[in-house]
Amino acid sequence: MSDDPRLGARPPRRVSRELRPEGTVVDLGRGVLLGGPEVAVMAGPCAVEGRTQILEIAEAVRAAGATVLRGGAFKPRTSPYSFQGLGVRGLELLAEARAATGMPVVTEAVDTESVPIVAEHADMIQVGARNMQNFGLLRRVGRTGKPVLLKRGMGATIDELLLAAEYFLAEGSEAVALCERGVRGFDPAAPHLLDLNAIPLLRTLTHLPLVADPSHGTGVRAHVAPMARAAVAAGADGIIVEVHTNPSEARSDGAQSIYPGQLRELVSECGAVARAVGRSLAPPRSAPAAVAGP
Ligand code: PEP
Ligand code: MN
Repeated sequence: MSDDPRLGARPPRRVSRELRPEGTVVDLGRGVLLGGPEVAVMAGPCAVEGRTQILEIAEAVRAAGATVLRGGAFKPRTSPYSFQGLGVRGLELLAEARAATGMPVVTEAVDTESVPIVAEHADMIQVGARNMQNFGLLRRVGRTGKPVLLKRGMGATIDELLLAAEYFLAEGSEAVALCERGVRGFDPAAPHLLDLNAIPLLRTLTHLPLVADPSHGTGVRAHVAPMARAAVAAGADGIIVEVHTNPSEARSDGAQSIYPGQLRELVSECGAVARAVGRSLAPPRSAPAAVAGP
């Protein structure tokens, strides 16, 4: 099908809001829905760095009120010499953290080769900004039928994002959420621009749930909470936030990682904002049985 508007009337795209005005709800399992009345907080480290690290952070973000655990096992790094993630071992640790906390897991697949193993361990597969137009990867991820979190490329237009998402739907995969994670700005003082306008704009164009990433969208720890609140005010269905118990030692994205205590505050503030716009935050997960109080 051509996408050239000069070629006349075309059927609406599968991502178009007109096809499903009520909106799509993505079910991540374990009682977590994305796109319903409740706003989801997804949190965790940029990368899984080891067993103690991920189990400790997973429990900390659960206790702070997050409902989905994030963490990269395969990391798309700008330099081939930077930490690339723990790979399959990282996926196994994420599965252990899910069992320990009851939180569904979102983690990235960086190439077609790793898609089956990521699909086996994850509840939602992330396609990162740098891979937004890796069409072979999009198709391969779409064929797993797993929920997908598609991040907007840092130089991608809204239309390119929607057409990238269309690849999943064309493969028959409907459980897709879009993530605004900041575009490149012109000002070295603020090189990352979280494009919050994209949220209400996308809302009119697509039925897919919308997530905002104030961590990569700002790159600055102190700016994460204000932009998380703003994203909820703008109508995001979820926010995804990087959290670390020891950010100065983090192997990636420490400067934008918030502490668990800051996440707790962020959750409470975003809850207030959600209520102000007629929504609510998903209720916190209860403590795992092994450490539950009397
Ligand atoms: C990430 O989520 O850690 C990540 C690499 O995100 P992005 O693809 O948006 O840069
Ligand atoms: Mn990161």
